[in-house]
Amino acid sequence: MLAFSLLLTGGIAAAVFYIILIKRRLARDRAERKQAEQREQIRSHVLELLAHGAPLATILGAIVRGLEQEKPDMLCSIMLLDSEGKHLLNGAAPSLPDFYNDAVDGFGIGIGAGSFGTTAFTGQRVIVADVRTHPYWAPYRELTARAGLGACWSEPIRSASGKVLGAFAIYHRQAHHPSDDEIRLIEQTANLAEIALGRSRADQALRESEKLLSDILENVTSYIYMKDTSGRYLFANRLLRERFAAPMEEIVGYDDSKFFDADTAANMRKDDLRVLHHGETIQAEETNHNLLTGVMDVFLSVKLPLRRENGSIYALCGISTDISKRKEVEEHMQHMAQYDALTHLPNRALFNDRLQQAIAAAQRNKARLALMFIDLDKFKPVNDTYGHGVGDLLLKEVALRIQDCLRDSDTAARIGGDEFVILLPAIETQQDAARVGEKILHALNRPFALAGHTLEISGSIGVAVYPEHGRDEKLLVKSADIAMYHAKKNGRNNVRLYQPGLQGISE
Ligand code: GH3
Ligand code: MG
Repeated sequence: MLAFSLLLTGGIAAAVFYIILIKRRLARDRAERKQAEQREQIRSHVLELLAHGAPLATILGAIVRGLEQEKPDMLCSIMLLDSEGKHLLNGAAPSLPDFYNDAVDGFGIGIGAGSFGTTAFTGQRVIVADVRTHPYWAPYRELTARAGLGACWSEPIRSASGKVLGAFAIYHRQAHHPSDDEIRLIEQTANLAEIALGRSRADQALRESEKLLSDILENVTSYIYMKDTSGRYLFANRLLRERFAAPMEEIVGYDDSKFFDADTAANMRKDDLRVLHHGETIQAEETNHNLLTGVMDVFLSVKLPLRRENGSIYALCGISTDISKRKEVEEHMQHMAQYDALTHLPNRALFNDRLQQAIAAAQRNKARLALMFIDLDKFKPVNDTYGHGVGDLLLKEVALRIQDCLRDSDTAARIGGDEFVILLPAIETQQDAARVGEKILHALNRPFALAGHTLEISGSIGVAVYPEHGRDEKLLVKSADIAMYHAKKNGRNNVRLYQPGLQGISE
């Protein structure tokens, strides 16, 4: 009986004990569930802020406050590395005293620079359970005492690539060592801060690259534009807006017919379609007549298709550079390379070119052509008597008089001081050429009124005819030169037709 009642009492005690244990476990489970729910709420609140593009300071503040709500004995801060990566700046620390925040703002990182300075430097978690005794806090003891801080743990905040971006710090008023659960909490919170910082950095990088792109587009000295697949403008950079004298909203949605004459717009459209429909990248010179400004300019335009990921074309991007000035300079240089600066007649190089072509044509057509050499008689004394300037004026006048005696298809050139050559590409007989020579002689014989002086001059003319007097350029030139030499020898002021057997100077 006694044994039985002992057994009963023992059984009841064991049952009570188990009930207490179960109740405790249930209470703990409830508390843990509540904590987990709370953490999840904070996390989703922070992610929501992120999704809505809230400022970084707001998001970091929400992270810190959420943790402090869950653990009221904790005081938290997030510190961020500056752009040089050498100092920590306050990110969020709403519960720490202002004087403390001011003191640690700009904190230099390094081993022994408090908990967070060491963490930011080493990238490792630093647990200081008692700031009053730990060597890392030795230089800041007065500060921590005034702020009433006993422990400081810190966890690195890293970028996706592992680079340390800052430190998350947790303080207690008393000396305190973290439990496993608290370590997990620190890690989770640092992770949330990492997400926020990563987004913020990505946003900043995007803003910076957008600004860079916009700076380039708006300041470049080329016209940059985008057109949709129908040829309507989607974008025009500042230079193009200025050329069109229109703001963006009066350009976007319109095609080139609004800004250029019908022919220009049609030509541009042809190029655009090659890009938009056939995916070609084209580079072309475009001569544009601007309807709004009335200016005619030459552009070098590069147009290329813009494609979606699947390869389909959604727009055209064009870069047009005004090369009108360059063209002018090029044309001027080309003119200088081919024409005589004083008389503006073709020079020797251009003449030789034309002579070659004319000989080739005459050969093909079995035709005749004539080459005429003119050297002014006694030109040196003109310079000596009246000066070089008057000599120049005379050379210009001579050039005009020679041209007056010629047809448009003939070419007169100045090849030296007082030497001119003439190409008559279509003559029937040798006499035709001699007649033109006579005509020039008479024209030169008329007095010249120049700079208040009346001047008289004459010329000696030698004529050679293709194919009789030379079947190629070299021989023909030689024959005309010999004929001219004989005209000089013959008393000047006369025309001499080359004849086989005439000897040159050196012969
Ligand atoms: P000739 O009847 O034998 O041809 O005698 P010339 O005095 O005409 O002498 P020549 O044809 O040998 O010389 C041409 C001169 O033309 C030599 C030079 O002083 C002069 N001369 C050459 N180039 C220029 C120029 O650009 N301007 C001027 N004013 N004179 C030039
Ligand atoms: Mg001469």
